[in-house]
Amino acid sequence: MYIVKKTVHVNKRKNIALVAHDFKKDELLNWTLKHKDILKNHNLMGTGTTATIISQHTGLEVEKFASGPLGGDQQLGAKISESLIDVLIFFWDPLETQPHDPDVKALLRISTLYNIAIANCETSADYIITSPMFSGEYDIEIIDNLANIENRAEQIKL
Ligand code: PGA
Repeated sequence: MYIVKKTVHVNKRKNIALVAHDFKKDELLNWTLKHKDILKNHNLMGTGTTATIISQHTGLEVEKFASGPLGGDQQLGAKISESLIDVLIFFWDPLETQPHDPDVKALLRISTLYNIAIANCETSADYIITSPMFSGEYDIEIIDNLANIENRAEQIKL
């Protein structure tokens, strides 16, 4: 499939989504405490329970979406498709089944499609947040949604 791309500029102040499955919430909370001084300079958001726990225990402001199993992952996915999220810190649990597994998969898929930085564990999250690219501005190449709609509409045989 021919894909039209476009460049999106990412500012110094990043829009960061935070999500953790239940047995990973303590790990993500510890990670946010460790990097609180950096995180306070960015816009934070997250699925309902994760966002609540982090803002309660760190004092950081975290915009709260629906809980993951109740649509929160999909809300974040929609924001990613609008280039309103630059980084996804998603500590998903490889040892537990999730009732909203299709939504988890969808969130990972849409993050990859839109070429944003994704961390799925403490190590990758540490690498991302300490990278010089994280503290600066950055241009990302992403699929041009509108241009691709035009192309597809022309190519589909009716
Ligand atoms: P939660 O959702 O933050 O509301 O627990 C996370 C998830 O399970 O996707």
